Amino acid sequence: KKFQIAVDGPASSGKSTVAKLVAQDLGLLYLDTGAMYRAATYVALRDQLETAEAVIAVLEKEAVRFKNAEGGQLVFLGDEDVTSAIRQNDVTNQVSKWAAEPAIRDFFVAEQRKIAEISGIIMDGRDIGTVVLPEADLKIYLIASVDERAERRYKENLAKGIPTDLTALKQEIAARDEKDMNRKTAPLKQAEDAVLLDSTGKTIEQVVEFIEEKAKG
Ligand code: C5P
Repeated sequence: KKFQIAVDGPASSGKSTVAKLVAQDLGLLYLDTGAMYRAATYVALRDQLETAEAVIAVLEKEAVRFKNAEGGQLVFLGDEDVTSAIRQNDVTNQVSKWAAEPAIRDFFVAEQRKIAEISGIIMDGRDIGTVVLPEADLKIYLIASVDERAERRYKENLAKGIPTDLTALKQEIAARDEKDMNRKTAPLKQAEDAVLLDSTGKTIEQVVEFIEEKAKG
């Protein structure tokens, strides 16, 4: 078995930001599993599909793939670059619904496990430590207060020139957590053997350093 780090936690807790940096430092592959569920949701919206089976049929033809580029990782659906499309509000607001579909989860979990066989990996998501990689060498459960998560996302959006309403953002984050924690299939929860890491008031560097120290054992 290759080296595995699982990072789970609620929406916008900084999982992808820190996981990418740890991947670089430790020479691991980074896999953004949320992007997969977002791509499935994008397919449903684009093709106006109503069932998980129909979405999977499209995903079998147009696979979700990641490409490393200078500005960061790009997400492709078949030949289509969906990197920014999967971050739009329409996808964000509907992703929890599609991510709760057991057939969609089975489809992606199988793929995620295959990828983890190829290379040492750090994967972020909601069910990595509990379902996808139960034997992971290190499991992190990354949390932060709703206020801090919303403010970080607000600043990111501001830097990208995306106009955002902070109150609406707080509501969106809280609503998505609620749905992800209360769904029947693979709900968001801390694995028993995961290390709880609260990043409220901590810098990105502090969080990265904490994870790397733990990874070195
Ligand atoms: O990580 P991100 O916020 O991009 O994930 C988007 C959504 O995808 C989550 O709100 C959740 O509903 C779903 N997800 C999931 N399991 C994962 C990763 C993401 O259910 N492993």
